[in-house]
Amino acid sequence: MPAQLLDGAATAATIRGEVTTAAAAFRKETGAPLCLATVLGGDDPGSRSYVRSIGRAAERVGIAHRAVTLDAAARDEALRDTLRALNADAAVHGVIVMLPLPEGMHERTVAETLDPNKDVDGITPVNAGRLVLRQPGLVSSTPLGGMELLRRHQMSVRGLNAVVVGRSSILGRPLALMLLNESATVTVCHTQTRDLAAVCRGADLLCAATGKPGLIRGDMIKPGAIVLDFGTSPDASGKLAGDVDFEAAREVAGWITTGPGGTGPMTTAMLLSNTLAAARLQRA
Ligand code: NAP
Repeated sequence: MPAQLLDGAATAATIRGEVTTAAAAFRKETGAPLCLATVLGGDDPGSRSYVRSIGRAAERVGIAHRAVTLDAAARDEALRDTLRALNADAAVHGVIVMLPLPEGMHERTVAETLDPNKDVDGITPVNAGRLVLRQPGLVSSTPLGGMELLRRHQMSVRGLNAVVVGRSSILGRPLALMLLNESATVTVCHTQTRDLAAVCRGADLLCAATGKPGLIRGDMIKPGAIVLDFGTSPDASGKLAGDVDFEAAREVAGWITTGPGGTGPMTTAMLLSNTLAAARLQRA
């Protein structure tokens, strides 16, 4: 029997509905809307399009969007000044900086300057530390979306053998920590892992977060396993593809996300939800 689908688009729509209600209540209570600021350095087309889609998604749920664009020639100093101004602005509740930054501006500057309680992408060392120490904080939207997708399908990860393939700071690493915090037994794989297929075959929950189209074949999946595919990268023909060979995997897995980009809507929904969480942290 083919795997059942973990429908990111439908789950994201439910979350957006909940955020809409909460954002309206926030506005009623405080007299001002929730506000998410995007900071774009330069003119990367992918980042420009991401900013537009964040703006549309925010406005649809009643969150104001403040778009800040820095000249591509700007340096760390301008980035720092912009972030300090957004930190100090009580009307702004969440800030996300588009990555990668152009030359002359550095991710580390963002991590060191941004107010952790406005850090809706969970990139500051304070939020990374809170996640390690299991303290309330803000976590990157993509791994958070994966966890929420499981939760909303009434799936507990407690005691499961979870394998996370990929260890980036924005995705694999925080996902592994969230799974550990929920009492899964977690293995993290990367390019130096020996016999990736054998490790994956031991997974009750397999999370693919590499950006390598088709890396996870059907024969690497334990029958009945839950498979989360975060990959959305162009394949050899330029078409966006997941890390998992979806057609082969759905014949083996018990549950699987809906093909390439299936987790994408969850990322945006969690970014909006994180803006609400950030506002609550600021008022705590
Ligand atoms: P990244 O920073 O390039 O990290 C990729 C990770 O995968 C690295 O840890 C790397 O290992 C590991 N890896 C690469 N090739 C591998 C292989 N052959 N075997 C085992 N491990 C391998 O990428 P990222 O930012 O985490 O993004 C990963 C994917 O998720 C991309 O397709 C991206 O587009 C997608 N993504 C989706 C969303 C969303 O909204 N759904 C959000 C963010 C990212 P090393 O550490 O050893 O190099």
